Amino acid sequence: MVDEIQKLLKKHGYQRAGRHSAVKTCLWLKRSINNMGQCYKSRFYGIASHRCIQMTPTLQCNQRCLHCWRAIDAAIPETPWDSPEVIVDETLRAQERLVSGYGGSARAERSLWEESKNPRHVAISLAGEPTLYPSLGELVNAFHRKGLTTFVVSNGTRPEAIDEIDPTQLYLSLTAPDRETYLRVCRPEREEMWEDLLESLEILSEKRTRTAIRVTLIEGVNDRDPRGYAALINRATPDYIEIKAYMHLGFSRKRLERGAMPTHSKIKRFAQKIIEYTGYRWVDESEPSRVTLLSRDGKKEKIEREDAN
Ligand code: SF4
Repeated sequence: MVDEIQKLLKKHGYQRAGRHSAVKTCLWLKRSINNMGQCYKSRFYGIASHRCIQMTPTLQCNQRCLHCWRAIDAAIPETPWDSPEVIVDETLRAQERLVSGYGGSARAERSLWEESKNPRHVAISLAGEPTLYPSLGELVNAFHRKGLTTFVVSNGTRPEAIDEIDPTQLYLSLTAPDRETYLRVCRPEREEMWEDLLESLEILSEKRTRTAIRVTLIEGVNDRDPRGYAALINRATPDYIEIKAYMHLGFSRKRLERGAMPTHSKIKRFAQKIIEYTGYRWVDESEPSRVTLLSRDGKKEKIEREDAN
């Protein structure tokens, strides 16, 4: 990474992991170490926030979403790809550097801080499109071999990659009920990427791993036509649907106002419409994160640890 982008990322709390990957702790990790709460992934799926790594194998992306946290206007230099093993080692090292600072805080619970040095889960969802890393399937497997569970969150524009990967839970982001809204919100490199996303939704329906669709709503931008969203979700038949508010964080603050965050009650009303049009059932909600969880049978299943081998 060249100096300019590196300085920018450092300023925003990112740690470099190898040549092109990055790690950043979220505010819930600190809260969790201080015994002051857990993020919604803990409530929904049993993931301890202080043992969760948030990373990406690439900061590059083929979309320029309005709501993205990443510095989408900064040029990301091309570098040779690191191997999955290098990325895993560098990610674990970067996380250790990040959490080491929290132990000195008077509020930190010593035992939780000790646990945080031994992470259990990796959310491959920080910023950037992970399927642009050509060995994502092998990277996921390499994390599993270390006994870590994985979430991959993808924009779904590379169906061939979606077909190949089997993380513990595979998310596709859905931020538009139709092509026109998609082009306005996600600003993809090619207009045909909408059709690629549709293909990925079909592939999701055949996956044997746990699957989820995450709908991120932005006030006044894409928070309409629940019937359109439902029709797309019905193609993918995911295990879970998360309806979530856009959060005014990171670099998205340069593009959207604070008022673009829908209230939690709006998210709940939208979720009820999705229930009506999909037949899914209500499972849970997290008001601080403005997110609701739906599933086909109204149940949620905790994430089990991947066996190291
Ligand atoms: S797809 Fe994800 S990483 Fe890419 S621009 Fe959109 S929000 Fe950002």
